[in-house]
Amino acid sequence: MAFKINSSDYMEYLREFYDVLQENKDYITELDLATGDGDHWLNMNTGFGELLKNEDQIKDMNLQDAFKRISMILMSKVGGSSGVLYGGAYMAASKTLEDVEYIGRNELYGILNAMLMDIMKRGKTKVGSKTMVDALAPAVEELKSKIDEGASDEELLESTAAAARKGADDTKDMPAIRGRASYQTDKAVGHLDPGAVTMAYQIEILCNYILRR
Ligand code: ADP
Ligand code: MG
Repeated sequence: MAFKINSSDYMEYLREFYDVLQENKDYITELDLATGDGDHWLNMNTGFGELLKNEDQIKDMNLQDAFKRISMILMSKVGGSSGVLYGGAYMAASKTLEDVEYIGRNELYGILNAMLMDIMKRGKTKVGSKTMVDALAPAVEELKSKIDEGASDEELLESTAAAARKGADDTKDMPAIRGRASYQTDKAVGHLDPGAVTMAYQIEILCNYILRR
């Protein structure tokens, strides 16, 4: 059965992400203390917590309006680079959702690819700069190739999640070219990028959420 995700489902996934964020508060904060200024967990927690406060309203919206609302909340409530980058990413994704009732595999690709393009443009970032892009880009690429192969939902979602996780892991050995980590003399080599780790959480949790339904 092909998957179909609506705004209410999407909010359920965001709640699962928020729960995982709670469990990893110290871990994510330590990663950002080693590579940046230590506020990445706080920024994400504030923003996604604010989304959940608006859950009742957002879950009844059509997908395009829901994504626009999410964008506006993240843009206004999240500090740091992540607020602007996620706010922009959700706005770009909303543009792919005109008259879309459900997110299926093609829409999922449309959303994630729009997010990737927007983050790279706004952040002036390419793959390999040790940022959130390094988790998102391989996931988008994997998703596209599984769609082209006509893979099953299970295979497509599992390999997309795995690509995001591996992408985040691979940031460990990268010298930072973008973000605060690039100001460090050692370019944070030897540390995972916190933004890539939280991006991988989102992709993994979304894929797992869809798989379980
Ligand atoms: P700040 O860096 O302003 O303190 P956060 O701590 O919330 O913001 O987010 C840091 C994360 O944002 C980094 O780990 C990285 O993944 C991501 N990031 C920072 N700058 C960029 C950029 N120019 N392009 C893409 N991602 C970026
Ligand atoms: Mg920070």
